[in-house]
Amino acid sequence: MLQIQDLSVAYGHRPIIRNLSAGPLLPGRVVSLLGPNGSGKSTLLKAMAGLLKVARGQVLLDGQDLTKLSFERRAQRVVYLPQSLPAAVHLRVFESVMVAARASDLDPHAQDASPQRILEVLGRLGIEHLAMHYLDQLSGGQKQLVGLAQALIRTPRLLLLDEPLSALDLNYQCHVMDLLAQETREHGLTTLIVLHDLNIALQRSDEALLIREGALVGHGRPDQV
Ligand code: ATP
Ligand code: MG
Repeated sequence: MLQIQDLSVAYGHRPIIRNLSAGPLLPGRVVSLLGPNGSGKSTLLKAMAGLLKVARGQVLLDGQDLTKLSFERRAQRVVYLPQSLPAAVHLRVFESVMVAARASDLDPHAQDASPQRILEVLGRLGIEHLAMHYLDQLSGGQKQLVGLAQALIRTPRLLLLDEPLSALDLNYQCHVMDLLAQETREHGLTTLIVLHDLNIALQRSDEALLIREGALVGHGRPDQV
């Protein structure tokens, strides 16, 4: 269960997220995060992922404040996929997913994912045939799918995805949302996903949060926020 309490985040002296409270968000549900450009969606996700300092407030995941956890312990519970596409390094798709599976290399008990598991995740995303391709030779949409494979190879408690569909065609957008719903239910994840396409949010998320100028202005069924 996820609960955001009175969260404030600033860039320097400029407040972006202002006393934002949201939740509880229950496991097994896909929650879309909606709001206009510049409203603070990415800032909120980055703060929850521990990449930005929180001025005040808490992000409680199963009662534990994520903002107080060490980077390592947070990385075991939270997977964050940024809005920008993964850097196009000269690394094979298969290897890049294998590296991502090692829980950021921080958990001494983390194991490499088996080749079968990696191929299964790639297969679910329909990109098994790209396993031996190099990242810097992929299209924008293909790179985005690899980013999703890297996120899904681990089974976190909290999955934070910042516009993971932006480079995908409509068929793929629907397919990825269905896959996320399935993974979310199967593993009892809490999935928070920034979406720009309102139709996709309406049709394929269980609930929605709407933010405007860094404040929560709606939370409920996607057709009612
Ligand atoms: P979009 O839909 O365009 O991705 P967003 O809702 O994700 O927008 P954010 O990226 O969170 O918006 O930005 C919120 C505000 O914070 C914007 O006004 C932006 O100018 C500002 N901002 C974002 N990143 C930084 C930064 N690194 N330094 C200073 N200000 C920033
Ligand atoms: Mg953004």
